[in-house]
Formats: sequence, C-alpha cells, structure tokens
Amino acid sequence: APRKLAAGNWKMNGTLAALAEIDRLLADHPAPGCEVLICPPATLIHPMAARSQGRIAVGGQDCHAKTSGAHTGDIAAAQLRDAGSSHVILGHSERRTDHAETDEQVRAKAAAAHEAGLVAVICVGETEVQRDAGQTLDVISAQLAGSVPDGATAANTVIAYEPVWAIGTGRTPTSDQIAEVHALMRERLSARLGDGADFALLYGGSVKPGNAAEIFAIPHVNGALVGGASLKAEDFGPIIAAL
Ligand code: 13P
Repeated sequence: APRKLAAGNWKMNGTLAALAEIDRLLADHPAPGCEVLICPPATLIHPMAARSQGRIAVGGQDCHAKTSGAHTGDIAAAQLRDAGSSHVILGHSERRTDHAETDEQVRAKAAAAHEAGLVAVICVGETEVQRDAGQTLDVISAQLAGSVPDGATAANTVIAYEPVWAIGTGRTPTSDQIAEVHALMRERLSARLGDGADFALLYGGSVKPGNAAEIFAIPHVNGALVGGASLKAEDFGPIIAAL
C-alpha cells in the first residue's frame, strides 16, 4: 500500500518568523503516523530543513527543467536538493495559470526533479467550467498522460488531485466525486507504468481539520496537499493526526 503523506503547500506565505510553527508542530505531534512534508517559499527551504532536523520533509514549489544556466529567477532541482529539499511540487494550478505552464513543461520539470533525486508532487485538476461541462475525467486523464514522465515510479512521484474550484474557496467535491477521480488516476497510472497501483495519491483543495477524516476515508486517497490550513500548527496538526 502507498505511504501516507500529509503535505503542506505554504505558497507565497511566510518569513523566518513562521518557522515557529514547525517547532509547535513537532512538539504537538512528535510521532506522526504518516510522512509529513512542508513546501515553504524557496527562501525558507534551508532554514526549515535545518530547524526540523529531518523530522519533517521539506520541498520546493517549482523547479526549472534545466540543470543550470541563464534563467534569472528560476531554481534548478539540484539546488532545491542542496538546500535540504526531498520533494518538489510541480504543475500546481496556480503555476499553470500564473505562468502558463503546460503539461509538457511540467513533465520536463518532473524528469529534472527525478534526475536530481527529488520526489515530484505532480498536481492535476479540473476547472469549474470543465467539471460543469462533464469533462473532468478527460481533463485528468490528459493531464496525467501529459505531465507524468515515463520514469515515474511510486518511489519518486506523488500525484495530487486538486480541483481548481476547490482551492482556497472552502468548497470541496463530494466524497463520490473525489473517489471517482482517484480511482481513475489509480487505473491510468497502473495501465501506463505498471507499478502505478503504489503511487501515493493526494487530494488537495480546502482540506481543513473538520473535513480531513472524511476525505482520508475515501478509497485511493493516501493523504492531502494542504494550502491555507498548513500554515498554522493548530490547523495542520489535526489534519496530520486524522491521517
Ligand atoms: P487550500 O488548502 O488553501 O485550498 O489550497 C490547496 C492547494 O492549492 C494546495 O496546493
């Protein structure tokens, strides 16, 4: 069975002072029953890794597909690794929207992450317009086919299903809707990559302490990718405990 993973995406939030939340999280949950990952802004990767002493995995929120060179403002996967990252989120819908990232680019970034020894947390998800048009399963299938590189294994890749309309809105899909997408992802990954049955599949989008247990009970949900509720130990802690 896939390893369970509680992942926090801090997005563009937090300065050094926010590392106090890590201390609180470690104090409140000294022996979590799942892997815990936090992906802070790049500026906090190294201090967070130092502060958490390996008790929390730390990750980036994006990387460049190339290993080095003239790419002002970008970060290479090996640099994330050097700073203390074990993971990197790729293809988040905010990057697909804000930076027009395509499936092809996400796939190249994921291959670069694998090359550098990072676990790629690849995000997929439909917009509300696509869901209303009945296109959800087609959209997810196409994003998986396009964004997941051939070298993906259960050891180096995690998939996060994040419906765009559920991110930061307080709205979540029904359990049946999440189950349908996760079953599809499991089937597609297995069919293409063989060992796909073991990929950790996360749900993301308005996960809170109050709905985490219900979401974690859904078949093929192996954890969560949490935005807003990962910023405070008092919110992320109970989510970790629910998993
Ligand atoms: P929220 O948990 O704030 O809805 O964000 C989800 C998300 O985008 C995590 O990557």
